[in-house]
Amino acid sequence: MSKRRLIEMKYKAAWYAGTAVSSLLYFSGIIGLYNLLRLRRQRHIAVVLMYHRVSDDGKLPDITVSTGKFERHMSYLAENFDVVTVDDIVQGYIKGSKWERDIAAVTFDDGFKDNYTDAFPILKKNKIPATVFVAADYIGKDFGLSTDDIMEMHQGDIAFGAHTISHPVLSGLGRKEAFFEINGSKAVLEDILKSRVSYFAYPYGKRGRDFNDDSINIAMECGFKAAFATDNGFITSKSSLYALNRIGMRDFPLFVLRARVSGIFESSLFYALRRLARI
Ligand SMILES: [Zn+2]
Repeated sequence: MSKRRLIEMKYKAAWYAGTAVSSLLYFSGIIGLYNLLRLRRQRHIAVVLMYHRVSDDGKLPDITVSTGKFERHMSYLAENFDVVTVDDIVQGYIKGSKWERDIAAVTFDDGFKDNYTDAFPILKKNKIPATVFVAADYIGKDFGLSTDDIMEMHQGDIAFGAHTISHPVLSGLGRKEAFFEINGSKAVLEDILKSRVSYFAYPYGKRGRDFNDDSINIAMECGFKAAFATDNGFITSKSSLYALNRIGMRDFPLFVLRARVSGIFESSLFYALRRLARI
């Protein structure tokens, strides 16, 4: 079996397992109870969601969220969270602010065309500011955003972040190439937007596997204020500013999103249960 096929199967299995656990927790009322207790104790969360594609083309890979589901996700966030920019979250984190409300930011990776055609209208309707991390080589391709799309979205409350030029695994590159990829993508975007690009997302994004301390140092050197990984988790006082966690979104029914953003999977109770299940 090919490595790629094995990874796909692992993702599928994790998807089904995650959906099953989420539905159990949600429909048993545990999530609701957990949220009630969490909010009563003023334990607010800051979460950054990561999307890739929004489209109703069923042939696309499973990082694609249908427009119907995306619409439900966004209206749920707009009603239940203070939906802010990535910059607001990072500034709040730097200032060490205790979150006054549950806070969420929406991000997209890669810069697919459907971010403009399908996601942008839904974001506008729900008044949700979002950030798109664009791989510079994708700009102007059939499947990628055009320069005009980027400029129009930018005027409509969408921020842009860098995501390298050719979307490589940074940990597999030498320092010089990694610098070229990271700094080059910042320069391309800044040239289009005529404004500073302050945030970066690592391609594939698992710390230790897809990017390493060298990548982090380069991101700092290039002048980014912070950088995002794809490791799961919330933004807390323990987060590392150049490897911020996000919650990866797929074509989930709303109850899975509600379970994922409740914080229950990051709670000490859940960690203890998982440890127990391994024994
Ligand atoms: Zn990517």
